[in-house]
Amino acid sequence: MLSISEDTHSQRVHFLWLQKQLDDSLYDQNEELYRKWRKSFNKYLKLKTKDWIMKSEANYVCRICEKKFKEGVFKEHSKECLELSEWKKQLKKKTEEIDKACDTAFERKQELRVTETIAR
Ligand SMILES: [Zn+2]
Repeated sequence: MLSISEDTHSQRVHFLWLQKQLDDSLYDQNEELYRKWRKSFNKYLKLKTKDWIMKSEANYVCRICEKKFKEGVFKEHSKECLELSEWKKQLKKKTEEIDKACDTAFERKQELRVTETIAR
């Protein structure tokens, strides 16, 4: 428990230090320092914006497979994914047809066996 309170204490000290630094910068009458700070802040904002744009570019979500893509790749993927999903649908349909045919064949076989047993 002692380590936690020590941690909290050092965090509080660090926070107060940061607050003092910020106050010093904001209320300083030094124009030069203010300009420097503004320049750095603008640089930071530009980087942040670039980061957001990059992240938002990958925000195209395919409605078929629900994967995320960038705009450029998305159109191509969309076409391929639609084609693939059509194939999957057709394959599923064919599989169902085969299953149905197998069931029918099994029923016929059973019927034939019964008929054969009766005929004996
Ligand atoms: Zn897709």
